[in-house]
Amino acid sequence: MEKIGIMGGTFDPIHIGHLSLAEAVRDELDLDRVIFVPAGEPPHKERGSLGSAEDRYNMTLLGCKDNPFFEISRTELDREGLSYSVDTIREIKKLYGEDNRFYFILGADSLMELDNWREPKTLLSLCCFAAVARPGFKSKKITAQLKKLKEKYNADIKYTESVRLEISSTDIRNKISQGKSVKYSVTEAVLEYIREKGLYGFKPEFYPEVRGFKNKLKAELKPNRYIHTLGVAGEAVKLAEKHGEDKHKAYIAGLLHDCAKNFDNKRTFRFCKEYGVALDDILREQPDLIHSFLGAAAAEREYGIEDKDILNAIRYHTTGRPGMSRLEMIIYLADMTEPNRVYYEGLDKIRELSYYDLKGAVAEALNETISFNRERGRIVHPLSLEAFEFYKNFREEVI
Ligand code: ATP
Ligand code: MG
Repeated sequence: MEKIGIMGGTFDPIHIGHLSLAEAVRDELDLDRVIFVPAGEPPHKERGSLGSAEDRYNMTLLGCKDNPFFEISRTELDREGLSYSVDTIREIKKLYGEDNRFYFILGADSLMELDNWREPKTLLSLCCFAAVARPGFKSKKITAQLKKLKEKYNADIKYTESVRLEISSTDIRNKISQGKSVKYSVTEAVLEYIREKGLYGFKPEFYPEVRGFKNKLKAELKPNRYIHTLGVAGEAVKLAEKHGEDKHKAYIAGLLHDCAKNFDNKRTFRFCKEYGVALDDILREQPDLIHSFLGAAAAEREYGIEDKDILNAIRYHTTGRPGMSRLEMIIYLADMTEPNRVYYEGLDKIRELSYYDLKGAVAEALNETISFNRERGRIVHPLSLEAFEFYKNFREEVI
């Protein structure tokens, strides 16, 4: 026989309150496992205001991934119609074996509402309950409620005050939409998911480290360059949204793509040496190209960027290269099409293409850059030529 906890909730998003209360109950009651059951259509929540079932399910998976005692059940998500706990408990019991001992875990707010749930008598007879304190719910009221449920339904409810966390999904959603940090209120993996999908109105520029990046860039770049940088970051997010790329990564790469652009000569050469950026003949002849390669090194060393895709997007944003990643193409293009760019012939075409055909747009942009440099008698970096060979077949007129 196993002792199994059932943790119901909308998990919109799952937060450390949910996780620590489930863990506390597991520990106190010596449970063998806790099954998290993301709500399908909860009867008590307003429709339409709820995050998508798949997002809530994915976040529940991510939130629980580090605890071997935690499992997730899709039973409510896969069931049609409104989700009632009485049905859920019956189903979980059937699935996991009626012989086991089940504990439905809930917070004090849910405990106070329990007799308004569907079929309370049956519900409370199906299994034991484990309730946990929640700020805002006084012990006296809770004791009275426990007594009432005991008398009315002969309910078996354990109550613990061992955790008391002032945290709710509502508060987290509000904070995110206002651009406030929710770090430590949800796990890193859940935060990453929220960021990536832009849930609850999360905007990449809300990410706490961005403020520091902006201050440093503002101090180091010429005013117009800084404005261009913000334009690239914004355009990159737009493209990321259209092409299913991580918006946060696109924003950071856009923001940092020119971070080494306004280094003076002395600093450029010193940092090239220090950061191991090789100055070949081409870079010596065309020093304007250095800032991309040096920018990647500076983003890593000075801004703490570890993500290789972001670093490559910075490294190849001027030359391009064959077989660019989606993020590399996005930054390459956003740099050429951001709204503050001075107009050049071909701009509209590249911009329009960039919204539905990244490779076609890259081919167009490379063609434009190569002819622009040739017309001015400048050497074209071999990477750009190789890139054009790679992408030229994606040009619209060729297809
Ligand atoms: P929302 O603000 O959207 O209602 P929530 O934080 O209350 O979200 P739910 O998914 O509604 O989270 O809650 C699932 C279960 O977890 C409920 O039984 C609730 O009482 C309990 N719970 C959530 N947060 C806490 C907390 N901080 N302390 C104790 N119990 C909690
Ligand atoms: Mg709630």
